[in-house]
Amino acid sequence: MSAQPTQTEQPATNYSFDESEFWRTISAWRDVDADTFGDFRWQQQNSVTSVPAIQEVLQDLATPSLIADIEAGLLKTPMNVRLTPYVFSLINWEDAAADPVRRQFLPLGSEFMPDHPHAMDDPIAEEGHKATPFLTHRYPDKALFLPITLCPVYCSFCTRSRVVGGSTAVKSKSTYGAKSSEWDATFEYIRNSPQLEDIVISGGDSLLLRPGQIRQIGITLLNIPTVRRIRFATKGVAIMPMKFTSDTEWMDALTEVCELGQARMKEVALHTHFNTELEITAWTASAMKSLSATGVRVRNQSVLIHGVNDSFDHMRRTTKKLSSLLIQPYYLYLHDMVPSCEHLRTTVRVAENLSQRIQGSTAGFNTPRVVCDAPGGGGKREISSYTLYDQEIGVSAWTSPTAKPGEIFYYYDPIHQLSNEGRTLWTNEPEINRRLAKFKAEATAKAEATRF
Ligand SMILES: *Cc1c(COP(=O)(O)O)cnc(C)c1O
Ligand code: SF4
Repeated sequence: MSAQPTQTEQPATNYSFDESEFWRTISAWRDVDADTFGDFRWQQQNSVTSVPAIQEVLQDLATPSLIADIEAGLLKTPMNVRLTPYVFSLINWEDAAADPVRRQFLPLGSEFMPDHPHAMDDPIAEEGHKATPFLTHRYPDKALFLPITLCPVYCSFCTRSRVVGGSTAVKSKSTYGAKSSEWDATFEYIRNSPQLEDIVISGGDSLLLRPGQIRQIGITLLNIPTVRRIRFATKGVAIMPMKFTSDTEWMDALTEVCELGQARMKEVALHTHFNTELEITAWTASAMKSLSATGVRVRNQSVLIHGVNDSFDHMRRTTKKLSSLLIQPYYLYLHDMVPSCEHLRTTVRVAENLSQRIQGSTAGFNTPRVVCDAPGGGGKREISSYTLYDQEIGVSAWTSPTAKPGEIFYYYDPIHQLSNEGRTLWTNEPEINRRLAKFKAEATAKAEATRF
């Protein structure tokens, strides 16, 4: 008799999304009706960007100890505070410390851990691959255009924390808004690089590009004969879904770009960024209805975050819910080695286990690829494709035959998640250096032996 799949292991997913007026539990928004809440201008104008604003909005839900912890966090993070009312009211403020949505946007002082000795400001080496001030060209046929460094929300785990948003107590930055007059050299570079077929427009966040800029970038790129596909990257669908139902000018611009894409047989996509099922509501469904009408293809890229989405059940539900709304799960990134994020990172082992379980749990085209963006510029690598992994001290070695032939890149797991033995080794500098040197020698030999 053949084994039957056990239905109890994967219960049916509940695809009814929250239609309640959940924001009314927040004191300041008790009297805000759905029409007002659903207006992107209201969302922008009422975004919460400071501790006094948090207190004012929450009133008695803001306990003195929580506020003190948030203030302590702001002294340690490289990211500004900014939450849309939509995402702010998805947080369960009764138990804010444990809330996965809060954990992504509002770090608490009590959560921070010392940086890994190998943490890097620019872990995926974007600055080193700059072809123009706005374009990172690392891979042969695709490039990353960063026309803006501002976002409608700021995430603690941002991989571009070195440039995104304004300066903080621990990090000074020279950020830039979108200045269309400065992009000509970038368009010219792309025009003169016929191998570039794929352009990612990221930032910052494309949501803050004005309709005229969406049109300018979209139309200019699609009119370059050798560019075949463009994608706008925005967290908007996850944190301000009302943008896509209420900003008709922006949607008209996107529609125009999509129509040109259809006429040219070129793909226009929107890549968004949900990390948990808690961010998916009836507002998401409405946004996706509007977006679907434009013909844009929508995909999702998540970051694997400790205490937010690092369990198989959570990831499976998020994946299936996104798929049900025509948002195709694309990547699940191992957290980059940026500073001030030790409490949010997890290990290659956890990511690899998750990858193995998620494969086969739903349609292949809706299965996110779990990847490590190899620190130092190796690019995205399948999580199980490391050359060598020493789980005890939490170090893995990666090669990148296409982007960087012959080089080896190293990723370091967060020390606090290692075994006792591993943690002890990291407290003994000569010992850990010996062990790392041995690891690197073995990885180099193995990479040489398996080179193709
Ligand atoms: C991620 C990335 C891309 C796009 O890669 P895909 O695997 O096609 O999503 C392009 N350029 C850079 C520098 C990137 O980091
Ligand atoms: S939306 Fe993206 S670019 Fe902006 S802060 Fe968050 S992770 Fe960084």
